[in-house]
Amino acid sequence: MERTLAIIKPDAVVARQVGAILQRIEGAGFTVRAMRLVRLSQVEAEGFYAVHRERPFFGSLTAFMSSGPAVVLALEAPDAIRKWRALMGATDPGKADVGTIRCDFGTSIEHNATHGSDAQDTAAFELGYFFAGGELGEDAER
Ligand code: ATP
Ligand code: MG
Repeated sequence: MERTLAIIKPDAVVARQVGAILQRIEGAGFTVRAMRLVRLSQVEAEGFYAVHRERPFFGSLTAFMSSGPAVVLALEAPDAIRKWRALMGATDPGKADVGTIRCDFGTSIEHNATHGSDAQDTAAFELGYFFAGGELGEDAER
């Protein structure tokens, strides 16, 4: 089993697409281990995306991510990191395969509906950014 951090970004929350995206997540066989509606501050968004600090879109991205509520989820499945990124599709919705979440719900390369961790080390950092061990069932019977 593997876990990944998924975010339903503010564009998809404001467009009332949380339910539709959750349906795809569960339909694809992921177990939702933890989930919360969050309203990130600019500073919290900057901390989350610290690896992108030098990118030209950093200011715009972190302003967008703190523009309204987002849903953070801990998803569990075999090969969860790769599988969730496949379900999301390419970063740019215009290049994402038909039937992927970003193709169907994203509207621009920045407003692309969802986030997913890209490797095991970033998944561990990102899950820890939003969830305490207990919330993930680390210290409880599954
Ligand atoms: P994510 O990390 O959100 O799952 P990703 O790994 O596909 O997406 P990254 O390169 O990590 O893409 O970029 C992080 C986020 O920054 C993207 O999801 C998107 O919202 C935004 N972004 C990426 N490239 C651009 C760009 N050229 N212009 C504006 N925003 C961008
Ligand atoms: Mg990324």
